[in-house]
Order: sequence, then C-alpha cells, then structure tokens
Amino acid sequence: MTSVASPFTLRPSSHLTSDAERSAKLSSPGFGTVFTDHMVTINYREGLEGGGWHNAQLVPYGPLALDPATAALHYGQSVFEGVKAYRMPDGAITLFRPERNAQRFQRSCARMAIPPLPEELFLESIRVLVSQDRAWVPDAPETSLYLRPFCFASEAFLGVRPAREYLYMLLASPVGAYFANGVAPVSVWLSTDYTRAAPGGTGEAKCAGNYAASLVAQVQAAQAGCDQVVWLDAVERRWVEEMGGMNLFFVFTDFAGQVSLITPGLTGTLLAGVTRESILQLAPDLGYNVSQRGISTQEWRQAAGSGELTEVFACGTAAVITPVGTVKSAAGEFSVGDGQPGPVTMRLRELLLDIQHGRAADPHGWRRVLLPAP
Ligand SMILES: *Cc1c(COP(=O)(O)O)cnc(C)c1O
Repeated sequence: MTSVASPFTLRPSSHLTSDAERSAKLSSPGFGTVFTDHMVTINYREGLEGGGWHNAQLVPYGPLALDPATAALHYGQSVFEGVKAYRMPDGAITLFRPERNAQRFQRSCARMAIPPLPEELFLESIRVLVSQDRAWVPDAPETSLYLRPFCFASEAFLGVRPAREYLYMLLASPVGAYFANGVAPVSVWLSTDYTRAAPGGTGEAKCAGNYAASLVAQVQAAQAGCDQVVWLDAVERRWVEEMGGMNLFFVFTDFAGQVSLITPGLTGTLLAGVTRESILQLAPDLGYNVSQRGISTQEWRQAAGSGELTEVFACGTAAVITPVGTVKSAAGEFSVGDGQPGPVTMRLRELLLDIQHGRAADPHGWRRVLLPAP
C-alpha cells in the first residue's frame, strides 16, 4: 500500500485553548471528558489507487456532520483502540508498545470486515496529533494523555454488506490518576444471565458492539451492589473470562511462599490485552511463575476459601492494575484477601507504572520515544 507515504495535511486551529484554561482542565480531568485542541481524520474509499486510505488530516477538534444513513449507526461496523502517551521525567513524550495496538487494530478491523489501516499510518497519526497537542500531555504523577484511535463505516447506505467508505479518527484526552483516593479493591458480579463473547463471535475484536452488549450486565452488577461485571464463558457459564473491559489475573501463593500468576488463556473469546501480555513478561522478572489456563468460578471460590488464592487483579490500559476483592453471584458471596490491595498486585502495579512513566529501566524495550526531551 502506498498510502503509508501519504503526508498529513495540517490544518491547526486558530482558536487554541489558552494556557490558563488548559491548566485548569489538566488539574482534574477525570476520564474521557476533556479533549485536546485537535484530532486526526483519514478517509477510506474502496477502489482508490494506492490502497484506499487517503486525505489524512490534522484538524481542530469538533463535531462531525454525518448522513443519517451512515452505516455504522445502523449496523455497528466500528472498532477502537486505547493507548497512552506519557511525559518522562526529562520531558520526552513516549508511548508504551504502540505497535501492539496498531496490530490489534488491524485484527479488529479484519474481524469486522473493515479494511485494515496500515500500521505505519496508525503510528504516524499518533505522532502528528501528540506533536501538535504536546502541551496537553500532563506531568502530574500517574497522569497521561489517553489516545483513542477508532474507525467506523461512514458510507451512507442501508444495505447490509461491508461498507465501501470508512473514517479513521484519533482523539486525545488527558487523564488523571485512575484512583484519586488510593488503590482500593473492587467488588465484582459474576454474570450468568449475560455473556460478552461466544465462540466464533467478536470477543477477540475491540469493537463497539462488544461494549454495547455489555452495558445491561454492568447495570445488573451495579444493582447487586458491585463495581464491575465478570464475564464467564458462553457455553458452560463457569470459566472466567474477563472483568468489564479488563483481563484478569489470579495470584496463588504456596506454602514455601512461591507466587504463581494464572490468567485465562486466549481461547478466542477474550480480548488479548497489551497490559496482560506485559504482565506475563514482567512477572518472571520478579520471581513469579506465570501460566495461562482456564479458571472456573468453582476453583476461584474454593481456592479463595482455602487461602491458596491470595490475590486477584484486573488489568488494562485505562486503569493499569485494579485489585479485585469481593465476588458476588446469584449463588452467594465470597472474598479474596483482607479488603486491602495485595502485595503482589501492588508490586506489579508499581513496576509497570514506573516503566510506563520512565521512572524505572525498560528491560523489555517497551517504551517508544514519540517526541524527544525539549
Ligand atoms: C481493551 C480491553 C482490554 C485491555 O486491553 P489493554 O490492551 O491491556 O488495554 C481487556 N478486555 C477488553 C474487553 C478490552 O476491550
């Protein structure tokens, strides 16, 4: 595809946010509520020479005008990613393993019959936007600039078939520390009424529809007094898959104090998280065993009761690592640990955050310098 070489046309805003206003917005941004001055758009049209992706632009952040027949609004052909840009102690701005997101974006596109965006174009879109809006990368501890690449069927057509036109976009949103009041274990609801993903379905793709289908279970979890929903497999409803939009890890500690981390294997119905993959690589550096295998709700309950299962945590780009405490289901309630975040969870969390924020060495070569120190 020659579209990789297509230059981005820069059309910067003539109404930039003032320094004072930006500082106010950066002081407590929350998650996904504040956006930077610009965004990126790239169009796709089938049959164009050079692969179809064209018209790459950086433009002022603002609303879209969409034809009401825009296919994505009707049939949900839409995928997204989540990546963070970090300000290093020396002022450089880095990304964490963005090529993994670029590759997963291509796999998600392929599953939804969307033509994959070339990896180089994905990465270049991030470089272009973050360069333009670099003042929006916050520098307070545990803050970052959350990047949201997404792509949807933009063709105005109500027939059911893969669209012939798509719009790729990139937004940037400064985010604060996820746990403003310190890390606290969440409570989870084991969903047996609803499932997230079935064999042959879209569970492996980061597509909009997976989230749409999850919301009613999240509401049910909240009604049961829980923070998050835990998904079980669709066939037997007993194998643990994920927690909301995060992957799960189970920490076992034996009599000799040896720690083993277990995470459900990638069966095709789980989303392959970059954070999950990173923890699997990082944990052995700390002397922990790791393995990927099925964990049933029965094993979860029994091992929590016997004390072999010492900690459970969830992981993902947005919240990094979140401890899981109480587990509720239609069958009752049990807890893992003593209501405090466990030591293994916290050690991994600190180490991963230190690597991401440039406070620790990067032994696996995960950081990518996007903009060098000024
Ligand atoms: C994005 C996502 C994850 C976490 O992936 P990361 O790459 O670690 O951010 C896990 N599960 C689901 C369902 C997701 O959408």
